[in-house]
Amino acid sequence: YTPGSVRFESVVKKFGEVTALKSLDLTIDPGKLVTLLGPSGCGKTTTLRLIAGLEMASAGKIHIGGEDVTHLTATYRKVSMVFQSYALFPHMTVRQNVAYGLTVKSMPKAEAAQKAEHGLELVGLAGFGDRLPSELSGGQQQRVAVARAIVLEPEVLLLDEPLSNLDAKLRRHVREEIRQIQQRLGLTAVYVTHDQEEAMAVSDRIIVMKNAEIAQEGSPSDLYEAPKSAFIADFIGDANLADCGVESVTNGIANVVLDDLNYKVRDGGLQKGPAKMVLRPHNLHLAAPDQAGIKGEVSYAAYLGKEIQYTVESAIGSLFVISGVTDKPFAQGDSVSIQFDADLARLVAA
Ligand code: ADP
Ligand code: MG
Repeated sequence: YTPGSVRFESVVKKFGEVTALKSLDLTIDPGKLVTLLGPSGCGKTTTLRLIAGLEMASAGKIHIGGEDVTHLTATYRKVSMVFQSYALFPHMTVRQNVAYGLTVKSMPKAEAAQKAEHGLELVGLAGFGDRLPSELSGGQQQRVAVARAIVLEPEVLLLDEPLSNLDAKLRRHVREEIRQIQQRLGLTAVYVTHDQEEAMAVSDRIIVMKNAEIAQEGSPSDLYEAPKSAFIADFIGDANLADCGVESVTNGIANVVLDDLNYKVRDGGLQKGPAKMVLRPHNLHLAAPDQAGIKGEVSYAAYLGKEIQYTVESAIGSLFVISGVTDKPFAQGDSVSIQFDADLARLVAA
């Protein structure tokens, strides 16, 4: 395989009055898995279809493997797509399904069958070639769809919500398999999902989209550790967002007032003025009410075995708190002090 890069320069896509993409700039390096993540309708599928050549850009340029493909239709692009519905032919055997794209490209039948067999080996389905799709589980059918895409030796593999037809338990298993195949073969892959945990689990980089544009991009840990907006903080992992005020900034550290208490927090690029503090549920600690901290009252406590989840009403709002079960548990109605490690808190614009 020769994995290709993907580059969008100011790509605009309009459907009549609807602007599906405002002006997208993105670069995907060869051999990487990059996920487009965002709420329904933000433009993820449109971006994939533009890479595939199934839609043409209204403006801007698209490069694949360094070649300008802006005006090439799908047939002339070395890209394959895996759909959420698998789209397998039910009357064809698994081997015939995988070989289909090759025979369409006029490869001799025997050679196509051999390549299909190799493709099935790559996805861990050697020996399943003579079965019909209906004789496989959902996860196996999705792997057949992946095999069918990769035997075409695409420069870029596109996957549009590939797990959404699988039940929750299988999803985790199949996402690991897709990631391992991608890494083993060194494929360039663009993966679409609206599920943030799935995106974090499979990606080298995540491009978070909102309202037809990029909200933020980075590695999973960049997005979690350094969200640039309240939207990202809330969308990537759970977050409590508390109104606070930046009093001053010195050497990248902000002096912040939150409910009359002072904290030193990374400045997040902000200046003096109103801000929001991002407090992760695991970073909030409940203490007895006579201890230092923000005062609150437990309005809900749920024992979940591995952890206890609390909702706490406080002067900085209703807070979601997760604590270990070894802590002395609090009960509904208890008064508490809320403490946190300011090194783990983040600031975003108000
Ligand atoms: P996502 O995959 O993120 O859910 P899409 O890329 O499918 O979003 O859609 C982005 C926007 O473009 C939506 O407002 C959608 O209704 C619109 N759209 C997508 N395809 C078409 C089309 N063929 N005709 C008209 N509008 C479309
Ligand atoms: Mg979509």
